[in-house]
Amino acid sequence: SHLERQIVVVQPCMTNGHGKRSWIGRVPNQIGGRFVDSHSSDAIDVINPATQEVVSQVPLTTKEEFKSAVSAAKEAFPSWRNTPITTRQRVMLKLQELIRKNMDKLALSITKEQGKTLKDAQGDVFRGLEVVEHACGMATLQMGEYVSNVSNGIDTYSIREPLGVCAGICPFNFPAMIPLWMIPVAVTCGNTFVLKPSEKDPGASMILAELAMEAGLPDGVLNIVHGSNDTVNAICDDEDIRAVSFVGSNTVISSRREKKMIDLEWNMKYIKQMCMAQQPEMRQHACPMYSLTPPVNSVFAYGYLDLDLAGMHIYSRASASGKRVQSNMGAKNHGVVMPDANIDATLNALVAAGFGAAGQRCMALSTVVFVGDSKFWEEKIVERAKALKVSAGTDPEADLGPVISKQAKERVCRLVQSGVDSGARLLLDGRNIKVPGYEQGNFVGPTILADVTADMECYKEEIFGPVLICMQADSLDEAINIVNRNKYGNGAAIFTSSGIAARKFQTEIEAGQVGINVPIPVPLPFFSFTGSKASFAGDLNFYGKTGVQFYTQIKTVTQQWKDLPGGVSLAMPTSQ
Ligand code: NAD
Repeated sequence: SHLERQIVVVQPCMTNGHGKRSWIGRVPNQIGGRFVDSHSSDAIDVINPATQEVVSQVPLTTKEEFKSAVSAAKEAFPSWRNTPITTRQRVMLKLQELIRKNMDKLALSITKEQGKTLKDAQGDVFRGLEVVEHACGMATLQMGEYVSNVSNGIDTYSIREPLGVCAGICPFNFPAMIPLWMIPVAVTCGNTFVLKPSEKDPGASMILAELAMEAGLPDGVLNIVHGSNDTVNAICDDEDIRAVSFVGSNTVISSRREKKMIDLEWNMKYIKQMCMAQQPEMRQHACPMYSLTPPVNSVFAYGYLDLDLAGMHIYSRASASGKRVQSNMGAKNHGVVMPDANIDATLNALVAAGFGAAGQRCMALSTVVFVGDSKFWEEKIVERAKALKVSAGTDPEADLGPVISKQAKERVCRLVQSGVDSGARLLLDGRNIKVPGYEQGNFVGPTILADVTADMECYKEEIFGPVLICMQADSLDEAINIVNRNKYGNGAAIFTSSGIAARKFQTEIEAGQVGINVPIPVPLPFFSFTGSKASFAGDLNFYGKTGVQFYTQIKTVTQQWKDLPGGVSLAMPTSQ
């Protein structure tokens, strides 16, 4: 394959946890249609979270290599944008076929690097594949509008044109789906693309890049650069990149010093742009670092943007250099359970959406609010959660695999402990689970905390592990209030057999994606992924109609074809 032929540096790996030998390849960048090894000597190990085996190494791409990827994308743009849309669609048609054929290979790569079960990894690929399928109909999606005779002999029409070079920055939790939220829509609209996969699991992106080449995507239309913060910052700053799609966390960026530097570098120069970019929803986030800098402080008097957070840092830094940005961030999704909910279906939904993928889904139902008596539900959930099998994702019987890293496990355990310390009841504790054959894995078993209140750290933070938090409310109004007070707004679900309760919930809940007896209401690609509040920054969501709008610039043309009457008028033209 292209990929295997062109990996330049291949190093032997030490033995893994089971005494077997394997090989570490340095993951290449993809620049201008070639898979090339980075010259950087700095690299990050990609680690199998079930075994600690080093699967590969991700280079920290140099500035020059990054720039050559952007240049390749820039060079490929004029001819790609002029390639007929039907041809671009046919590339997607071929790509969807190739993804189907390579489903197992993609899923295995995901399981090895990310840890989720093979079946779940196939779901990851499939949800991305659906976006590729949707992009096969881009001609219709990208269609403009036409109004004939807006004035005498004059017509106006609109055209959606590609932007140029676009870039995507991906998280670790959906190694196939999230690159596929971006690439198919961006390139089928006629853009060229630079993708930075998660440094934790780049394998699926590399396979997809290889398949895209095989499908006929011309050289330079898709480029891949690896790295972490520096590469991301280079994307945000690059003057040839027109749009940035980010999916990832809201975690606090590293040190005070780093924050201070960002502060000095950015705030004076870009106040205006940031003001234009800010969203009213972000008002609730205090922004303490800006209290150090009076000019910015006046602008951010209400703490509109919290630039300490990775997703917001990327959003503001990229918008500050004039790019359009869509930034999908962290979440705390609530399920509200009414006393009249269908018992069996609701329990299954809560267990599946709380613990599936080891809780590492941005739409995981991590918090459940029981309206009325919670004891009955708690007992039943514990019973079902206990029955789940925790094992390596390659174990065909596994229900959930490990969390991504040792640090992630430590963080999950710390947040659970903080809940216990502040008075939550630990109904099920998966922190000390041992998985035979995978003793080194980052496993956390299903964990359930009850009597959690909104002031607890375990509630305020996104845990991103197999931990279900249980709260109690006396009425639907109170439950809705709990959900609405939370800063995040990715998703929320209600479980009920009452249409009245469901309708009230749908109307009053402040979350971008609402499920009614559906625990993970991620819309299919003909809609968009519509997280809101602190879970999203930007105006145009991923995929669907808004995805096409994000990756295109609208142009309106007004034309006049008639015999022009004589005479000059300097008055503002009006419709006649
Ligand atoms: P992450 O923020 O650690 O990493 C995401 C990407 O950003 C990576 O490519 C990483 O290299 C880069 N990055 C991280 N910190 C950075 C910094 N300070 N400066 C520059 N670049 C930085 O996220 P993750 O842990 O890989 O993914 C999990 C998170 O993503 C969770 O919070 C989850 O809710 C969120 N997520 C959200 C959605 C959504 O649609 N809302 C979907 C999937 C995941």
